[in-house]
Amino acid sequence: MATEPEVGSEVRGLAPEGEAESTAQGDPAATDPAGRDRGTARDVLEALRGSVPDHLLLTDPTQLATYECDGLAAYRVTPALVVLADTAEHVTATVRACAEHRVPFVARGSGTGLSGGALPHAEGVLVVTSRLRTLHEVRRADQRAVVDPGVINLQVSKAANPQGYYFAPDPSSQQICSIGGNVAENSGGAHCLKYGFTSGHVLALDLVTPTGEQVSIGTEAPDAPGYDLVGAFVGSEGTLGVATRAVVRLTRLPEEVRTVLAGFASTDQAGAATSAIIAAGIVPAAIEIMDALAIEAAEKAVSCGYPAGAGAVLVVELDGAAAEVGHEYAAVEQICRQEGCFEFRMATDAAERAEIWKGRKSAFAAVGRISPDYIVQDGVVPRTSLPAVLRRMGEISAEKGLRVANVFHAGDGNLHPLVLFDASEEGATERAEEVSGLILDLCIEHGGSITGEHGVGSDKARYMPRMFTDDDLDTMQMVRCAFDPDGIANPGKIYPTPRLCGERPRIRQGAHPLTGDGVEVF
Ligand SMILES: Cc1cc2nc3c(=O)[nH]c(=O)nc-3n(C[C@H](O)[C@H](O)[C@H](O)COP(=O)(O)OP(=O)(O)OC[C@H]3O[C@@H](n4cnc5c(N)ncnc54)[C@H](O)[C@@H]3O)c2cc1C
Repeated sequence: MATEPEVGSEVRGLAPEGEAESTAQGDPAATDPAGRDRGTARDVLEALRGSVPDHLLLTDPTQLATYECDGLAAYRVTPALVVLADTAEHVTATVRACAEHRVPFVARGSGTGLSGGALPHAEGVLVVTSRLRTLHEVRRADQRAVVDPGVINLQVSKAANPQGYYFAPDPSSQQICSIGGNVAENSGGAHCLKYGFTSGHVLALDLVTPTGEQVSIGTEAPDAPGYDLVGAFVGSEGTLGVATRAVVRLTRLPEEVRTVLAGFASTDQAGAATSAIIAAGIVPAAIEIMDALAIEAAEKAVSCGYPAGAGAVLVVELDGAAAEVGHEYAAVEQICRQEGCFEFRMATDAAERAEIWKGRKSAFAAVGRISPDYIVQDGVVPRTSLPAVLRRMGEISAEKGLRVANVFHAGDGNLHPLVLFDASEEGATERAEEVSGLILDLCIEHGGSITGEHGVGSDKARYMPRMFTDDDLDTMQMVRCAFDPDGIANPGKIYPTPRLCGERPRIRQGAHPLTGDGVEVF
């Protein structure tokens, strides 16, 4: 079980009836940690007949191919079975059947993830929650919304806006990504600098555990006793179960919003202005930086009218009570000018505000205009390290002969370097991967992290040991095993070496706690 995904993995569906499926043939995946035989996706399919309508059970290779990747299309694996859940009971029945036959399953929302988190398992079941789209209620009086996991992020704000509220976590993909995916990835967005990531906006969850139990975790009461299970689940990338409903916190719409575009000669200056704004005690709703290459791409794609000749631009958004925003605006202008800003422009209406954001929001896709291929990287550094890290990234880019465009959430130090390359050039893909990895090393060197918001998924599992010791990884694995003793929930994601729940961690002394339950240690 839990092999690392391979780029361009073989496409494989359900074996014809009567033929053995590959898991049963001398493959370590054929048994679970206790040495019991694992079943197959066909067993799950048979178990679901009657409880999930046939048209929601996909086995046709053409239909299965639709689900072979998420937003990271470099990794592709065709699942053996796709279940399009229409109800929470469909999710429960599916996970229960997987648990009974010890068959791997992977949850999928809208499939926009950028780290291969929803990459299917070739012998497993893909549980798609995107059809669970009921927005049950918006409760203005206590600032809550109750939503199904397939509800689109932006729909929550659209439903709450008429009552003066919105859902604050705003990934750039918010028009298509689902709340279930946001919860699993602990997603962020441009405005998470002030309002925090998804983890700060989820109060309670209904979920199906990997053993097939329906449970409710969390509470709407403040400071409830007991372990913070919602805290453990948010960001667990589908490895602790499938969320079937969420109670989320709503945020009051601000009285005033001011959006500013500031042009600088260099990213050094723009980075220094960012640190100075925060040091002055101002927490803008967003501070975003784009460098010269990203500006060039955005101009080509959407003619956003950013300052000509800028080496970097800052997009700063201030929101809150009108008096406070006015005061902060004056301070931000003064700081930007002190740090060398040569153009400082405020949007005077909603159309101008949208125009300023258009360049930033189009930047990832726009890079496709200036390069045939690119890798979107995601790492974090302490804000104050930004100038040094960006300089070193420039050197790496020159040494390896590949251009790197930078568009990022500067306030959080969350970098999104775009490594540009041409896959048709001999060795270019490998060099781009190398540059991408070197950038993550740089983030770790500066006390940062290998991911800021896109998750570890399949893509970054191999980098986890660069950031964590074996003891750290063992401890995380113990949490995973507490939820998923059979190792069937999204196996192969997050952790570099798939460790089964009965395996002895590297250093721990004495008997493994699970041996008391009869689980074999090998
Ligand atoms: C253009 C673009 C821009 C983006 N911008 C941002 C950004 O600004 N910030 C950001 O954080 N991310 C961003 N992303 C990444 C992505 O949109 C987010 O990670 C998003 O939260 C994924 O949601 P999804 O519904 O597409 O999840 P999927 O991709 O379907 O799944 C993501 C993970 O969640 C798990 N999962 C899905 N549903 C459930 C469920 N119901 N229960 C348990 N686990 C589940 C999956 O197993 C997988 O591990 C961007 C992606 C794109 C394509």
